[in-house]
Amino acid sequence: MIVIIKQDVPKEEISKLKNQLEGDFNVSVSEVVGTHTTILGLVGDTAQIDIGAVRSNEIVEEVKRVQEPYKNANRKFHPDDTVIKVGKQSFGGKDFQIIAGPCSVESEDQILEVARRVKASGATMLRGGAFKPRTSPYSFQGLREEGIRLLLEAKKETGLPIVTEIMSEAYLDLFADVDVIQVGARNMQNFELLKELGHCDKPILLKRGLSSTIEEFLMSAEYIMAGGNSNVILCERGIRTIETMTRNTLDLSAVAVLKHVSHLPVVVDPSHGTGVTWLVEPMSKAAISCGADGLIIEAHNNPAKALSDGAQSLNLDQFSGVMTSIKRQIGFEGKHLLSADGDLEV
Ligand code: PEP
Ligand code: MN
Repeated sequence: MIVIIKQDVPKEEISKLKNQLEGDFNVSVSEVVGTHTTILGLVGDTAQIDIGAVRSNEIVEEVKRVQEPYKNANRKFHPDDTVIKVGKQSFGGKDFQIIAGPCSVESEDQILEVARRVKASGATMLRGGAFKPRTSPYSFQGLREEGIRLLLEAKKETGLPIVTEIMSEAYLDLFADVDVIQVGARNMQNFELLKELGHCDKPILLKRGLSSTIEEFLMSAEYIMAGGNSNVILCERGIRTIETMTRNTLDLSAVAVLKHVSHLPVVVDPSHGTGVTWLVEPMSKAAISCGADGLIIEAHNNPAKALSDGAQSLNLDQFSGVMTSIKRQIGFEGKHLLSADGDLEV
């Protein structure tokens, strides 16, 4: 961290601040003295220092961090890719993951039909919302506990690991048999929830907030990791921009940035990222090419009747068609697709 001192501040004032910083934060401070301006360089664990508090000192002109505030998620401190095992599957290694299923779990027939069909097309995990974060309180809110029970039934029949969203730490006990817990975009900065998830050892699929920067996204991962859970999978799901022709703007550059600055696996959600079914295929291919470790795609047995996100959900034939092109791309990028039964498909 660098502290730039205002012009022509007396030496004694600067020494006082230097001693104060060393005493308060257990860092070493070196001084670079120019003709009019002095710069203090702080070395040590500066992540705990509140920039605003240092900036509020009346002799301080500016404070800048030279090191990223995220430590656990930072590739500098963990050069190798993190690989997160989920049953036979893994995120972050050579294997690619395709998580598919409806936005919401709606009934036993629906989730079983979708699970069977997406598995037959090559999906490696099943998604489905039981707790739904809806913009309107009058929209379908999810089957909640019953939804999780139905997902577990689909898992029992197909062998597909299940991925489902948690909205409050109060329901954590219901997620005991869930394979991957999803934190939705709206809860990316629900810090109490993140802290609680830091105390369990389940893989967490953390979605990027609707208007969050990449650094804020990584700081949310940091919350989970700081609690002791390093099984965090990052998910780019589109952000709000000026664009109106797509539901969100799928930020694929974020995928390359995340893979560069962090060792955590990255998954892309082209369904929420675009809100448009025909964009799922090209965006999936692009995501694979820019380094993603997996995709999460909404697929429904009858999108026109879906209780949520029907407009962006592929029907099961469309999903099968998109999978053919996704598999080709996975092979082209030298990654593998292991079927739910453990056979190498690509
Ligand atoms: C979802 O996965 O259905 C969902 C609500 O996603 P997001 O949190 O990205 O909007
Ligand atoms: Mn959805």
